[in-house]
Amino acid sequence: MENQILAVCLPQQGSLPSSAFEVLSVAKNLAAQSQGKVFAAVCGDKAQTLAKNLSVSGVEKIFAVEHPALATNNDEIHAQAISKILEGNKFGAILFPGTIFGKSLAALMSARLKAGLAVDITEITMANGKIQAKRAAYSGNALATVSVAQETALFIVLPMVFPQAEKNAATPEIVPIPFAPQEAKMEYVSFQPEASSEIDLGTAERIVSGGRGLGNAEGFKIIRELAETLKAAVGASRAAVDAGWITYSHQVGLTGKTVHPKLYMACGISGQIQHLAGMSSSSTIVALNTDPECPMMKTASLSVAGDLYEMIPLIVAEIKKRRGG
Ligand SMILES: Cc1cc2nc3c(=O)[nH]c(=O)nc-3n(C[C@H](O)[C@H](O)[C@H](O)COP(=O)(O)OP(=O)(O)OC[C@H]3O[C@@H](n4cnc5c(N)ncnc54)[C@H](O)[C@@H]3O)c2cc1C
Repeated sequence: MENQILAVCLPQQGSLPSSAFEVLSVAKNLAAQSQGKVFAAVCGDKAQTLAKNLSVSGVEKIFAVEHPALATNNDEIHAQAISKILEGNKFGAILFPGTIFGKSLAALMSARLKAGLAVDITEITMANGKIQAKRAAYSGNALATVSVAQETALFIVLPMVFPQAEKNAATPEIVPIPFAPQEAKMEYVSFQPEASSEIDLGTAERIVSGGRGLGNAEGFKIIRELAETLKAAVGASRAAVDAGWITYSHQVGLTGKTVHPKLYMACGISGQIQHLAGMSSSSTIVALNTDPECPMMKTASLSVAGDLYEMIPLIVAEIKKRRGG
């Protein structure tokens, strides 16, 4: 295997998000196992400035492709830019962040390169000169170990699973790549951020989640009250989302967001494997449930058996009392 590894660091709204640093830490880990070298790709309308801020040690070079056409998430144009980097460089592994854009770009690159792609990996190792990755299979009921047969293997890194590469005083060499985009069949129309004043689930340090045990949509009032008291984000199980009690953007789990906050409070959530897949790496899990035998109560660091409608007001009152009102 070629032991050069490329981490594709995708900007979001003009800066490099946490997913870019997660991809870099995975690349560094893989390089450490294979005596390999880590390279980063930054494509955007301000790629050179972003590359200068990518001060992560252990990165050999940062390929910066800068062009106004790369300001938006047009898969085709970005695939052209990455292909340009690949013209003069060979990589054994190319890693993409598991964001919506990262996933569609990785799929397009996999088709262009006729290279295998492992999606949503949660672990990556070198074994007998071959990269092996782990990913959830059968709705999270099993873990698959996958490897790619081609010389270049593509991987999508599941967000919020790996640590972020630390920024320090490092100054990796920046290699500007000249780029003139070809006409694309795809047109970028607009970006409409979700109107929300709530704390972002993906980066929250504390999350209070509600499930079917709430009984109805009104139940999220009490969840929001607890979340506000704790300055936490609001999460939900798929059962609550499917019932229409809260929007999908709050869903935690296999088909929702993967989170790892310091505190995760699961209120009226049974803890089915698909939900646990999204939050079991939380530092402290507190479960409030009427059923002491359910999986969430067994997984939690602290399990409190009882009716959430009785417990949450007591918890809120106690926090307020300790804070002095
Ligand atoms: C392909 C696939 C993907 C999926 N993806 C996801 C996903 O991303 N996220 C996800 O969450 N699920 C997902 N699911 C669904 C998952 O299997 C479960 O159905 C779902 O997580 C159950 O949600 P729940 O725990 O809220 O509901 P339930 O399993 O019905 O649990 C409700 C809990 O509330 C408790 N309860 C009831 N009343 C009270 C009360 N008054 N006070 C306290 N506790 C109470 C009950 O004891 C019970 O434990 C997926 C399923 C499939 C097949």
